[in-house]
Amino acid sequence: MKSPSPSRSRHGVRCSDCEAVCCRLTVVLMPEDRVPAWLIQHDDHGPDTLAKGADGWCAAVDPNTFRCTIYDQRPAICRKYAMGSPGCRDERKKWFGAHPVPTPVVMRNP
Ligand code: SF4
Repeated sequence: MKSPSPSRSRHGVRCSDCEAVCCRLTVVLMPEDRVPAWLIQHDDHGPDTLAKGADGWCAAVDPNTFRCTIYDQRPAICRKYAMGSPGCRDERKKWFGAHPVPTPVVMRNP
């Protein structure tokens, strides 16, 4: 999956440039959730969760657009997670803080 662009976080949180950072969090499934079976991660010692890819993102995220591929069937916890909420802003801050914009290197001839 491509890495979200750190520069976008400076422009606030909007649907049009959301990088789905919250879709790296663990999504606990509720009994009423109806997600495709291949996305369910069973745990013998805890609640079922949504499967994640090797990159840590929810397996339902489109890696090119950061859009949810099961939007109409997304779990209740995803529906309740409000864009721009304190939790959203905190996750974005953690993500972009851990992935700072690299300092450009300019090569000049002597
Ligand atoms: S189900 Fe959709 S909204 Fe929920 S974490 Fe996965 S990609 Fe994100």
